[in-house]
Amino acid sequence: MYEIFTDTTVSAAHRLTLTSGDAERLHGHNWRIRAHIRARKLDERGMVYDFYDLERELRRVVERFEHVYLNELPPFDDVNPTAENIARVVAEELQGNVGDDRVSVHRVEVWETDHCCAVFFRDAG
Ligand SMILES: [Zn+2]
Repeated sequence: MYEIFTDTTVSAAHRLTLTSGDAERLHGHNWRIRAHIRARKLDERGMVYDFYDLERELRRVVERFEHVYLNELPPFDDVNPTAENIARVVAEELQGNVGDDRVSVHRVEVWETDHCCAVFFRDAG
């Protein structure tokens, strides 16, 4: 199994609804979003995926999160915009753009700070 990953960053604000029903204060993060993709076989170039193309595809997915208030943006108008939920949304959309019968998005990490990261695994393999 081969794996590659790429990082991008997005500056966005959110406001989480807490279990008490209250909401925390509106605040922002410079989220680091890291996508890992895997392939059992390399392509004819000897690559899982071209790094440049993967960066471009990841940016395509996250661009709409740039400098916005996430709570106003689907699906986060309905789903709490936690790092975990952001990771899942990015993973599923990226899979739709880069996945095929050879390549799949394995996991996406969303770093809220240098010390706090949530990971969504698309597959256990
Ligand atoms: Zn936060």
